[in-house]
Amino acid sequence: MSRTFYIETFGCQMNELDSEKIAGSLLHEGMEPVSDPAKADIIILNTCSIREKAVQKVYARLGEVKRHKTRRGGDLVVGVVGCMAQLEGEKILERAPFVNIIAGPQKGHVMPELVARALETRRPAIDLRMDDDPEPLETRHVLRVSAWRAGVTISEGCNRHCAFCVVPLTRGPQKDRPSSNIISEAARLVDQGYLEIVLLGQTVNSYRDPSPPGLRFAGLLRKLAEIPGLKRVRFTSPHPNDFSDDLLDVMVSCSQVCNQIHLPVQSGSTRVLLAMRRGYTRERYLETIRKIQSATRAIAISTDIIVGFPGETETDFEDTLRLLDEVQYDSVFSFKYSPRPNTAALNLPGEVPEEEKGKRLRRLQEHQNLIQYNKNAAYVAQVLEVLVEDRARANFSLAGRAANNKVVNFNGPESLIGKFAEIQITGFSANSLRGVRVQ
Ligand code: SF4
Repeated sequence: MSRTFYIETFGCQMNELDSEKIAGSLLHEGMEPVSDPAKADIIILNTCSIREKAVQKVYARLGEVKRHKTRRGGDLVVGVVGCMAQLEGEKILERAPFVNIIAGPQKGHVMPELVARALETRRPAIDLRMDDDPEPLETRHVLRVSAWRAGVTISEGCNRHCAFCVVPLTRGPQKDRPSSNIISEAARLVDQGYLEIVLLGQTVNSYRDPSPPGLRFAGLLRKLAEIPGLKRVRFTSPHPNDFSDDLLDVMVSCSQVCNQIHLPVQSGSTRVLLAMRRGYTRERYLETIRKIQSATRAIAISTDIIVGFPGETETDFEDTLRLLDEVQYDSVFSFKYSPRPNTAALNLPGEVPEEEKGKRLRRLQEHQNLIQYNKNAAYVAQVLEVLVEDRARANFSLAGRAANNKVVNFNGPESLIGKFAEIQITGFSANSLRGVRVQ
């Protein structure tokens, strides 16, 4: 009988794709996915380390996995992979000695080998190498969760060193995938019926084609939009400094490119941005926003914000609130600053007390909620094309996303899942729209 595996993913879309690549490799070796960890011969936690809370969540989950291990003994292989594994390394074994595999991100292609090694030697198989191997960028084997939306890696790692961020330490410097491989993977996905392609990279618009066409990100996007039958392409996450006029031009002129951009700002205070080593000022960021907002196509804008970065004063924080007013973001992902090992921010003075961070986070979220509520009101009576994804959480049978990434809830048959539907907007909240299907 073939071995079974269960993968649990923490963190970002890149991790979700990494998990799909791990699943694809294991499946290719004859193993079978299961949705219940109690029925798995291999349990893999694909982890995130962006905040301390994410790391603690993995340790808490390992406490639960230990119960399966106690029941199954040496038969069960437990793997901790991804960013947190890269950062913690063998320290994981001090808190969870029953773990059999420790591997960093981008190790899907070697996972079958690590499983075999752990079973054969009965000792932990550890792979924390960060080399120039281009293989992890490729998608030789992948078991996709969705049949209509697919992530496609275009680059991995990051060459910037923001003072708060562990990504360059866990995923290494930026490695780019040849454009021809990206385009042929996207074309294959379109042939297979995928409706939406999501280009993934840590700073996705810093892409530099390592192969002869030498495309920049805007050129790659333009080529992808030319694929016959491609309905939608999105990308995440760009860096504000690499947002070029060319990129805006592609977003305006190619209807397949979704009219949505997530442009992380992190703070509205130039003083804090400097301490964060973000490489731009508030003014320069706002210049980019103004360009996007004056384009002839309406583009929804979202961002990430960290509150309570070391040295952030009340005035700095109020600058961030004013930035929200100026930009009128469609959505904001906001977090309290979380100190991460080996990052430059650890040495900065001016720690903001936890209680104050919490207060600022609540103020920021309340402030932004009102902006979103007012923005969403403008959608009433509009008809949006929605890619139907799933059952809605409450009151409505279905939910989907418009090209501008707005979540739309409505009632309709389950057979619409994975298809486009035209929805007329009849109501809204700060976080979503609701509507009725236009037949
Ligand atoms: S740009 Fe900054 S925040 Fe983004 S991945 Fe790179 S170092 Fe981290």
